[in-house]
Amino acid sequence: MTPMIVHTREELKSAIAHANPKSLGFVPTMGALHEGHERLFDKARAENELVVISIFVNELQFNDAQDYANYPRDLDTDLVMATRAGVDIVFAPPAEEIYHAGKPLIQLHSGILGEMYEGASRPGHFDGMLAVVAKLLHLADPRQGEYRAYFGQKDAQQLALIRRMVADLDYPVELCSVPIVRSARGLALSSRNALLNAEQLEAALVLHRAIELIASRAARHEPLNIDDALGLFQMEPSVELDYFVVVDPNTLQELAFICQDTPFTGEALILVAAKVGGVRLIDNQPI
Ligand code: AMP
Repeated sequence: MTPMIVHTREELKSAIAHANPKSLGFVPTMGALHEGHERLFDKARAENELVVISIFVNELQFNDAQDYANYPRDLDTDLVMATRAGVDIVFAPPAEEIYHAGKPLIQLHSGILGEMYEGASRPGHFDGMLAVVAKLLHLADPRQGEYRAYFGQKDAQQLALIRRMVADLDYPVELCSVPIVRSARGLALSSRNALLNAEQLEAALVLHRAIELIASRAARHEPLNIDDALGLFQMEPSVELDYFVVVDPNTLQELAFICQDTPFTGEALILVAAKVGGVRLIDNQPI
């Protein structure tokens, strides 16, 4: 069945109230949907009576106006995927509906977790992301019954921040996550991949190659020697590396001491970001 499409907060509220579900699974997205999103919809579908998704390209989280202008948008194709995944309600608001009182005066600050890595390279990105997620989690809240929200592990730092926001502000929602969905050759699926040509898509595979190199050493409890991963990037001059770090999975603090020649034990997370043809790509892998 085709999902019900709603554009206003009022319509969303009454559609949820009318469904009166025992459980609601909510998946916020920026559209240009791909199999990574679909995995979230499937999990939400399997675990809830009502599945609500949002499609909203949130200008506040773009620190670069060109990136916002170029971000892929394709509502018709998105609706085909939402239908296939059995989504019940698609909330696709215009910006004035979300920021009805104008640009928020009162804003969340992502703090130390938001200043590292993506936050360092994209000032204001995480505050803008929290601004919209904080609102959307209210707007999709069924007020009674079980309430779950679904996020991808692809955006590891975003997920860590949303977990903190939900804990710090006592949102009555259970957070659920899904592992990264990749192409057959290992590239993490991303709406931004649509902006890459064939050559750039090929070059972008270095992110996964570098991760695999270090992850396989970790699995064998060998020293990680991450300089070798950095060396792989040097061999791909069209890929501009921003960071490749091994961090604590909870605090995201860099674990510099395990990056070189000590045998690897314990748990960590590899985080990487790079630009290919001006398009920013991120990836990560727990080790
Ligand atoms: P976006 O539309 O990029 O804001 O993403 C919406 C949600 O889908 C976020 O929770 C992302 O982490 C998740 N997501 C995006 N790409 C992937 C992927 N390749 N694998 C898993 N989750 C993803």
